[in-house]
Amino acid sequence: TATANIVAEELLPAAQAAGHPQPAIVYSHIEKSFGRTMVLEDISLSVDAAETICLLGPSGSGKSTLLRCTNLLEVPDHGQISIHGQVITDRGADVDGIRTRVGMVFQRFNLFPHCSVLDNVTMALRAVRNKRRDEAVAIARAKLELVGLDHLRDRRPAQLSGGQQQRVAIARALAMSPEVMLFDEATSALDPELVGEVLDVMRDLAKQGMTMVVVTHQMRFAREVASRVVFLDHGHLLEIAPPEEFFENPRSDRLKLFLKRVL
Ligand code: ADP
Ligand code: MG
Repeated sequence: TATANIVAEELLPAAQAAGHPQPAIVYSHIEKSFGRTMVLEDISLSVDAAETICLLGPSGSGKSTLLRCTNLLEVPDHGQISIHGQVITDRGADVDGIRTRVGMVFQRFNLFPHCSVLDNVTMALRAVRNKRRDEAVAIARAKLELVGLDHLRDRRPAQLSGGQQQRVAIARALAMSPEVMLFDEATSALDPELVGEVLDVMRDLAKQGMTMVVVTHQMRFAREVASRVVFLDHGHLLEIAPPEEFFENPRSDRLKLFLKRVL
């Protein structure tokens, strides 16, 4: 909305002067097309530090594209994204640097099958962060501990359940000390009985104050963990509200219909 844009672009310095912290992520008038199809249309949204935003919307509404723009896996055609005040969408941005600041977890975990769990988590620390092996191992083990898997650090990914593999993927992202974590349907490929352990890790992260943008079909998670829920439809940000209001008082017919289908 116009108000959100004004806040994002003009009132920020005033807000900061008044003691309000800088937002973690600011999306300002984001547009993205693939060929002739406009997939994101004038998306503006400001995410505070330590917020968990859940992104809901029908298949094809642009959820993944918005997440992928946030770590430059896609580049918006127009508009700006900033992370803690630094614009990332300018030409010549340090893409690798931004990807370490913005961690992402996908539906498919993409662990390296021939490496141990521990090596999967230390790899980027060694290659991108130039950490010594002992330093990288210490960081990796702390993150594996956080997701409850340090005891399985010598196994290969294939020796773990899908839920455990996804928790390793989360540990791998956390090892880079990201400022923001993005989750794109992180539980959608899992057997139902393995979904809970991954959601529990995500819930813990949210509690610890990680800033998160989460695309999920898990309505209970959105209800219980999100600070605000966003509804995307055909590339438009149609509604944004705290979960209670979002689920109890949807305003648009589109959201009402969507909720009727998924709840
Ligand atoms: P969602 O995650 O909400 O299902 P996506 O962001 O993946 O939606 O996709 C939004 C639209 O953009 C869809 O119509 C999809 O087919 C299209 N799309 C996504 N990625 C590409 C791409 N790399 N090339 C062409 N079209 C794409
Ligand atoms: Mg998607």
